[in-house]
Amino acid sequence: MLSNLFSNVNVTNKLFTLNDAKIFKTLAKEDNSEELSAKEIDESLSLPFEKNKGKKALIKAFSFQPNLNGYGVIVKERKEELEKGLEKIKSLNEVKFVVSKKDKVISEDLKAYGDVLRVSPMTDLYEKKLISKAYEDNDDVVIYDILDVIKLGQALLGKDIESFITVYGSAVNGNKVISINKNTTYKNVFEALDGKEDILIKVIDGGSLNGTPVYDLNSVIKSESRGILYLTDKDVPSNKSYSCINCSKCLRVCPEGLNPIKLMDLYKRKEKEEFIKFGGNKCIDCGLCSFVCPANLEIAQTIKTAKKFN
Ligand code: SF4
Ligand code: SF4
Repeated sequence: MLSNLFSNVNVTNKLFTLNDAKIFKTLAKEDNSEELSAKEIDESLSLPFEKNKGKKALIKAFSFQPNLNGYGVIVKERKEELEKGLEKIKSLNEVKFVVSKKDKVISEDLKAYGDVLRVSPMTDLYEKKLISKAYEDNDDVVIYDILDVIKLGQALLGKDIESFITVYGSAVNGNKVISINKNTTYKNVFEALDGKEDILIKVIDGGSLNGTPVYDLNSVIKSESRGILYLTDKDVPSNKSYSCINCSKCLRVCPEGLNPIKLMDLYKRKEKEEFIKFGGNKCIDCGLCSFVCPANLEIAQTIKTAKKFN
């Protein structure tokens, strides 16, 4: 069954909420690779931060993707590691935090460490806007994800380096943040969360707006992964799409100012040059055009495929 996962790339419009305030730890496959010493890990993780010494830092603790916001739980549960990472970054940079204005809890928690800006989750898609909200002088600002600050803290404390992902979907006992290591597979997580093979139809790595399908559950979860959806029919009520009704919603929502439906048509007509002329390669794969489309068209997924062919 697991090798026959549904190949449709359409993600899901369903929004999820966490119902577990603790981090769940999964067991990974045994690690046979050579162990790096804590000192080596510390040096390799510190290096990118050291390179930005003297810049202003904006530490981001939110995502525009509705199913990837496990940050509140992680900040509470990995306080010691966060404080250690912050100590290091504050020795290198001036620091401010940015969170979603919908998330009051994390905002209160981070106030103990510095100024906290609350923005619309959509601001995550506009780096310049995000920076200008925090600092008047926009030059030399670097944005960090707070999860990387926690990893840095873990390295400095000589602890295991964890990746955190939020897991949802009716095929597992999910709605929680889980901690994985570099060898954890999609199957490890599925089994650890009492996954039900008979109802699983689709696995998506990433956000509910722009994630990508996973076809091999035995593959290792990438370290940059932030979320996994183990979906059933219940989560994906309809894969049926209709003809475009020219409502322009996709145009209005596109953060890059593109014409998504036009780009999809150009790809289908194999007009590569026109696709580029209309800015197809500037698409940032946010998935919002598909999310808002009342005709359930796979616009973002088609553009993503189109870019690979250019
Ligand atoms: S996926 Fe691409 S085309 Fe669609 S809204 Fe996002 S940037 Fe625009
Ligand atoms: S949102 Fe969907 S239905 Fe509306 S114009 Fe775009 S493609 Fe057509």
